[in-house]
Amino acid sequence: MGTPCQILAARKMQVPGSEGVVLSPSDKIKLTIGLFCMEQFNPELIDHLGVDKREIKKLNIKKEGLIVTLKDGRQMIVPHKELKKFVRGSCAACTDFTSKYADISVGSVGSPEGWSTVIVRTELGREVYMRALSDGYIIEPKFESPVYDVIDTMAAKKAARATSTIKPKS
Ligand code: SF4
Repeated sequence: MGTPCQILAARKMQVPGSEGVVLSPSDKIKLTIGLFCMEQFNPELIDHLGVDKREIKKLNIKKEGLIVTLKDGRQMIVPHKELKKFVRGSCAACTDFTSKYADISVGSVGSPEGWSTVIVRTELGREVYMRALSDGYIIEPKFESPVYDVIDTMAAKKAARATSTIKPKS
């Protein structure tokens, strides 16, 4: 399981080289589950919050910005505008939002609170998903399918950000 960049790295390692061997330990990877990922932040963000990281219970990206929930129930919001300066340089140039190279992609975008959006991408992914469903490890909701437009919008936003970040050398 990993972020889109980790899944891509694993997939590249699985491509046999000129001698027909793949890079270890990618040969041990049977199934890949990729997460939706817009960005990761530099550790300086925690200093900026002014709290001990052990006090943090949950971090959530919402429309308003980063919602930081502390163990004592308090919440802090860091607006998107303020968050920008903490985004890792490599993330600003990354174009994959939904882990396109995974067998199964999972994220919260497009689904109601408490549910996950799942995109099955390969036969192996389908097999595993169906087995998990029939064995009761996961359940499908009774409401309609995820809102794919929101996912597409986020993916397009990420791709556009990368395009504006990577400027060709003149
Ligand atoms: S946004 Fe950053 S952490 Fe997420 S997949 Fe891209 S490079 Fe990896």
